[in-house]
Amino acid sequence: MNRFQDQGYKLYHFEDEIFVACPNCEERAVVNIENPRLETRHGTLNCSFSLDGRELRYRMELKCNCPDCGARIERHLDNVKERQEEIAVRCDECENTQSYKPRFISYECGYPDSGLPSDPYYNLPLWMHLELKDNVLWAYNYRHLDYLKSYVSAGLRERKPHGVYWMTMLERLPDWMKSAKNREAVLKGFDKLLRI
Ligand SMILES: [Zn+2]
Ligand SMILES: [Zn+2]
Repeated sequence: MNRFQDQGYKLYHFEDEIFVACPNCEERAVVNIENPRLETRHGTLNCSFSLDGRELRYRMELKCNCPDCGARIERHLDNVKERQEEIAVRCDECENTQSYKPRFISYECGYPDSGLPSDPYYNLPLWMHLELKDNVLWAYNYRHLDYLKSYVSAGLRERKPHGVYWMTMLERLPDWMKSAKNREAVLKGFDKLLRI
């Protein structure tokens, strides 16, 4: 019986190289994420064109009182591309329009949701994914796929090593992937993913 021991990896251990569908040419592109768990997390996308980091967007917030009637004025807007010094806002109460200086909070933004499993940085659909009945099988890269495959195919699965207290990637896998009755189908799925 082939044995498999959980190596204690978390999903982010596989984030250094992720195959995605390129937003430009729709071919396979590679996303590399450096320092995936740190504030200094930084990604790049490499294809026939490349991206370094993500686009900056702003959340605009305005909270004040109307200088004419004193009514509360609150506005906010996400996904703003450029910050503005002042914006014109009409008061709901007295209907006077005034200029205000809103606050702009910057954040990095990825691509809009595709409804498919995506990379955790740009949010681009993964290259290696396929539907399996009501579920989706996916992997970031070949190393990830290999690891999943050896786990699913093992007759004997050994627990994570001592000293690993976190939930490992394998412990977080959905039950349908771990269940013996789906083993054949899942393994066939992995083989298909390999050839995508
Ligand atoms: Zn491309
Ligand atoms: Zn007013």
